[in-house]
Amino acid sequence: MSPGLQAASLGPFPSPADGMLVDPQGRRLDYLRLAVTDRCNLRCQYCMPAAGVTLGERDEILSIDELIRVGGIFAGLGVRTFRITGGEPLVRRGVVSLIAALRALPSSPEVLLTTNGLLLADHLDALADAGLQRVNLSLDSLDPATWATITRRDGFERVRAAVDQVLARGMGLKINMVVLPGTNDHELAAFADLARERPVTVRFIEPMPFVGEGRLCGPGITGTEILAKLAGSHAIEAEPVVAGSVEKLFRIDGFLGRIGVIEGHSRTFCGTCRRLRLDARGRMRTCLYGRPSAFLRPLIRAGAEDSALIAAIRQSVAGRLADGVASELDHRRHNLDSMVNIGG
Ligand code: SAM
Ligand code: SF4
Repeated sequence: MSPGLQAASLGPFPSPADGMLVDPQGRRLDYLRLAVTDRCNLRCQYCMPAAGVTLGERDEILSIDELIRVGGIFAGLGVRTFRITGGEPLVRRGVVSLIAALRALPSSPEVLLTTNGLLLADHLDALADAGLQRVNLSLDSLDPATWATITRRDGFERVRAAVDQVLARGMGLKINMVVLPGTNDHELAAFADLARERPVTVRFIEPMPFVGEGRLCGPGITGTEILAKLAGSHAIEAEPVVAGSVEKLFRIDGFLGRIGVIEGHSRTFCGTCRRLRLDARGRMRTCLYGRPSAFLRPLIRAGAEDSALIAAIRQSVAGRLADGVASELDHRRHNLDSMVNIGG
């Protein structure tokens, strides 16, 4: 029996006095990545196989009302930040009203969005009105042809334009670039330069084995190697590490913005990780690298009271393992799902 299931079978996990979600290692979990769809208008090489992934039937996906209900339950358990993701969240009808509803919860949680940017211009005003505070924009190349090779689709100009459109709207912006050796790693300096006159954080992400085939989509690269390359063009200076954050941040003298690395494959941040994940079908994960450890959709559709959903969430948290390496080892099939299904 896996450690996760052993923990689950021990019975109800004692909840802390304030009712918040705390895992067996004492980490408070107050951040939920909420995937609202498994559909996407791009086909990024590092995220899914060329043939795409098997999509859920429409009724397998949580409805907007179900997402709002679940969001309210997590907020009641102390979740202070919701990150809306997917698939591509902006292809999901109703996503703006979901964001507005989450922002309107009594605890006024922070609501953030991760998007590939293709549809952002169409939704920016409505998103701002709904109370969206910050956007993470995925942009893997500044060269149209390279971008098209990585995403297997057209639309570069729209995504590139979104950088300044988000800033002009007064929203916070982080740009996520997955570093793919031999494909876009010669662009690191150009990406860092985006932060010269813009108040953005440009983050370089280690590629992770989430193509849906249990492997990386090409050669890997570590955060240390990325920083060594950047040091050749920019004098970077580390900022203090913020506990609970997945990014290591760096300032560059004279730059308005900053840069960061996310060591998602090296997994250097697990010790203070405070993230939970719910995919579009209602499967909850306590680690990106782990198996789903609660399935909320059948409970919801069977008419479960909030108390039953809370019990399932707490039991899932009670089985949380120490880090992403332990979670991956526990993953019996050793074939991690596609990121388009998990939500990043
Ligand atoms: N479609 C949206 C987007 O691309 O921003 C949201 C979903 S996407 C799965 C969330 C994030 O995961 C993106 O920043 C994407 O670059 C990142 N991602 C996807 N697959 C990855 C992989 N194999 N390794 C590292 N990052 C990955
Ligand atoms: Fe779609 Fe985002 Fe995956 Fe690219 S990374 S295929 S945009 S879900």
